Amino acid sequence: ERMVSAEVQQEEESLENQLRPQFLTQYIGQEKVKNNLKVFIEAAKIRNEALDHVLLYGPPGLGKTTLATIIAHEMNVQIRTTSGPAIERPGDLAAILTALEPGDVLFIDEIHRLNRVVEEVLYPAMEDFCLDIVIGKGPTARSVRLDLPPFTLVGATTRAGLLSSPLRDRFGVLSRLEYYTNDELRNIVTRTAEVYQVEIEDQASIEIARRSRGTPRIANRLLRRVRDFAQVKGTGTIDVELAVNALERLQVDPLGLDHIDHKLLKGIIDKFRGGPVGLDTIAATIGEESHTIEDVYEPYLLQIGFLQRTPRGRMVTYKVYEHFKMEVPE
Ligand code: ATP
Repeated sequence: ERMVSAEVQQEEESLENQLRPQFLTQYIGQEKVKNNLKVFIEAAKIRNEALDHVLLYGPPGLGKTTLATIIAHEMNVQIRTTSGPAIERPGDLAAILTALEPGDVLFIDEIHRLNRVVEEVLYPAMEDFCLDIVIGKGPTARSVRLDLPPFTLVGATTRAGLLSSPLRDRFGVLSRLEYYTNDELRNIVTRTAEVYQVEIEDQASIEIARRSRGTPRIANRLLRRVRDFAQVKGTGTIDVELAVNALERLQVDPLGLDHIDHKLLKGIIDKFRGGPVGLDTIAATIGEESHTIEDVYEPYLLQIGFLQRTPRGRMVTYKVYEHFKMEVPE
């Protein structure tokens, strides 16, 4: 498991729950999303209605689940959490929907992985707060309409493009989460250190933030590991020297790249003179699946301008040579 993976790792979930901010004012960054939600939440409360359905999309670890729980808190309602792949049959969804109280939030993570049949049950539920269920089989089968309490569906996805348009169209609020700035991540690290009651120098927070790939989940994970070093090797306080040392031992470089990123980038330089080189060829040389490279390794490298996609394949940019202190070729 990579130190700098944006996906949630085993046994990390309960640690993350401790860290979740409860209200919008404690949620750092994502100002545009936050300001809009604030207005919609207030308006819904004034009208005494359920909040409109909200779709949150963006890369993993940026705080979609956290925002869903905050929405429920701010609306003063319960949240019921499930995920696309967990709802296998229409009956599963019907059971969840009929158990909701008026105004409740239903959070469906990975909503792009809902199957078609289930999705179709969701349409009238979202639109008219009702369920059409078929009772019986064959010629005696009949359809019954069941009323549901008004509720708010909060859907989360890393792949908004995979959502069918009828589903996407039924969300009143579509919010895209962006990668965090280093300043915002520094504030997140400082806040997490407070929750963990560990002292950290500002410069050390900055150092962790810079290596967190724009992602709070990674920032919090790095802080937890650095805190281990502080408690075992240091005075308990995290100063910048200790942080840098620990991060080096964890093999996370000053831009948040690890050995896998290094292998990928250096592979393109050493074997293909910096590219362009096809994705499948890269995959074969470093012994990874093409889609893993595309979905997991590449996005951050593209985001920081280290890799470029060209019609003839991937190319490293001059930034990579500078980062590795190599001479930039003509
Ligand atoms: P995934 O899509 O992989 O489930 P996610 O987008 O739902 O990820 P969360 O689980 O909400 O991400 O967030 C990951 C961790 O980062 C949590 O512990 C959360 O508390 C923290 N976090 C995320 N966003 C913020 C923020 N804006 N302020 C403070 N902490 C945050």
